[in-house]
Amino acid sequence: MNIFALSGFINGIAALIFGGFVYLKNRKKLENKLFVLLNLAIAIWAINYGFWQMAIDKTIALFFIRLLMVGAIFIPVSLLHFILKFLGLDQKKKRILILNYLIALFLFIFNFTPLIVRNVRSILYFPFWPEGGILFHFFIFWFFTTIIYVIYLLIGSFYKSKGYKREQIKYLILASVIGLGGGVTNYPLWYGVLLPPYGNFLVFLYPFILFYAITHYRLMNIRVVVGRAAIYLFSFLSVIGISFSLIFLNNRLVHPISFNVLGPLIIIIAVLLFQFFFRFFEKLASRYFYYTFYSYQKVLTDLGEKLTQILDLKKLGSLIVDTLIKTMQLDRSVVLTREESGHYAILRNIGFKEENGISLVKDNFLTKYLEKTKKPLVYEELSLIQRDSVFKEEKKSLSKLQENMKRIEANLCLPLFREDKIIGIIVLGKKISGDPYSQEDLELLTALSAQASVALNNAQLYAKVQDLSQNLQEKIGQQTKELKEAYQKVNKAYQIEKKAHQELKKLDEAKDQFIMATQHHMRTPLTIMKGYVSMLLEGDYGKINKEARKRLVFLQQSIEKLITLVNEFLDISQFRVGKGVLNLKEVKIEDLIREIIKELKWEAEDKGLYIKMKKLKISPVVKADRSKLKEAIYNIIDNGIKYTKKGGITISLKIENYKLKIAIHDTGIGMTKEEIKTLFSETFERGKEAKKVYALGRGIGLYIASNIIKAHRGKIWAESPGEGKGSTFYIELPVK
Ligand code: ADP
Repeated sequence: MNIFALSGFINGIAALIFGGFVYLKNRKKLENKLFVLLNLAIAIWAINYGFWQMAIDKTIALFFIRLLMVGAIFIPVSLLHFILKFLGLDQKKKRILILNYLIALFLFIFNFTPLIVRNVRSILYFPFWPEGGILFHFFIFWFFTTIIYVIYLLIGSFYKSKGYKREQIKYLILASVIGLGGGVTNYPLWYGVLLPPYGNFLVFLYPFILFYAITHYRLMNIRVVVGRAAIYLFSFLSVIGISFSLIFLNNRLVHPISFNVLGPLIIIIAVLLFQFFFRFFEKLASRYFYYTFYSYQKVLTDLGEKLTQILDLKKLGSLIVDTLIKTMQLDRSVVLTREESGHYAILRNIGFKEENGISLVKDNFLTKYLEKTKKPLVYEELSLIQRDSVFKEEKKSLSKLQENMKRIEANLCLPLFREDKIIGIIVLGKKISGDPYSQEDLELLTALSAQASVALNNAQLYAKVQDLSQNLQEKIGQQTKELKEAYQKVNKAYQIEKKAHQELKKLDEAKDQFIMATQHHMRTPLTIMKGYVSMLLEGDYGKINKEARKRLVFLQQSIEKLITLVNEFLDISQFRVGKGVLNLKEVKIEDLIREIIKELKWEAEDKGLYIKMKKLKISPVVKADRSKLKEAIYNIIDNGIKYTKKGGITISLKIENYKLKIAIHDTGIGMTKEEIKTLFSETFERGKEAKKVYALGRGIGLYIASNIIKAHRGKIWAESPGEGKGSTFYIELPVK
């Protein structure tokens, strides 16, 4: 086998494996199918190339060359179709595509005639090199035109596209130029140009370049299945090895089993063994190469469903991180949650250093960026995004983010949303196997993040409600405690107050007792003085001159006043200490008042005032201490006369609700509201106007009157429309 044959086989096997695994992984997409078709064409061309190089005679060589041409004819058209589909131009360029298919079909029909490959001849160091027929020129022309057109389309789209697509196109151009360009070096010899087809050795680079694009830039939307392919291959080789060993051993037997029997037997054994080997290599791979055959779909869909049933935040975080790490074989992952304040917290972290886990969200950029794009952010994409960004600031922030992700070895950020706001981010490290995240990974993770968002939302709300009730309980507890404390304080204060009050009362009582005693001792000498003065005046001790009599009368008046004062004080004190015992008898009020009027008549007439009483039809009777009640009413009527300059006093009686109401109205100086307030109090205050009108007043009379009325379980109060507008005093007493 010469090296050209070898290169043919290598190219063919590379194309077969490559096309095979794209087919295995995702055969549903038309794009992938077309890619498989292209690889098949290349494989047909390359493998037959190998066989042709190994051909020992002219006919065999010609046969393989013609077979090779089948592949060659379908390379440009399948490439064109694939690229048009890839660039999304397949509908727009439908006519061109159909034309190309027709050309391919046309060439295929004539392929096994000398119109395309006429014959073979010896040239350079090739014993059988083909000579082209008439249609071969057409083929070559068409081949180049199509390839150039495809490259032209790719370059055109390259400038128009962004990000990943742009990178993918770049590699497609590279692969087409190197791979197909290498293949093209086969053609000069056809025209007798002595240029050896060394480019052929480059053809196998084409799947490698595309493989790189697939793994790094998610070309073809397939996940890397090298592991799986390897496991298939090893299983396959093991089975073949065992089958051959069996055949070999059989041949060594004295009586070998006929191949007709052994053949099917071996096939059955091989089928059974394949399962065994496959599982064996699978285990081996997962143990030593962290290769997983997890069904993304299943595990992640299950996880999504489980998540929405969890309300506990911590459990939720653990389930997400643990499952992702286990199923995807990741080196690290962290779930960050974000509060309304914008503050992030680590919910669950495996593999990241504590401070690193949160460092991505230290500035607001990542949050804002994810809120804008609303899709997972992949580390490898960052440089492309950066390149395409038109804003200087954004470029800078992106570069910073990229550095940061690299430093902490974060590869993927999955945003979690509540409406349009980020409520969390799942950050993933890299796969232990070293594989990049495939498009399928991203699609599944995006679906997962939607479910995780719902779950996180629920859990956060639940936590909030729980927090609230906890808080509420704490608050109620606290307030109850505070209330208790306050109550205790109030109680303590009350006790102190009570004690103070009791002490004050005692003191007051002692004071009253003292006053009573003093008054008693004052009254006796005063009465003696009064007696001697009247005896002196009456001439019991001889005649007194006129001047001395005048002084003695004055002395007598002063003593009288003093006695009244002392008596008044005594009354107050007696009532206060409860000693003012009432001598209750039936009293006809009308008579009592008439008596008072009679006594005061002269005083009133002296001032030119009238004094009258409105009579009632019936004569009311009250149970009262006659002399005390008289004193009280007397005082009030007397006040009326004292504080009235013009007009007079009107007394009226009324019975209402079993109560007798005595109203004593005057047309005097009146009172202010302030004066009324302190009228019956112990402060013994006097009105300003009153002092002018009657300088001798002491402000005690009303206090005594009020005490007497209260002792009779009655009420006393005063009303006045204001200064100079007269006053009315009311006394209310219960009637029998
Ligand atoms: P006194 O009349 O000796 O001053 P009272 O206790 O009888 O003491 O009266 C207290 C005060 O009430 C009086 O000084 C006066 O200011 C006011 N007062 C009482 N009766 C009247 C009234 N009929 N008209 C106006 N003011 C009055």
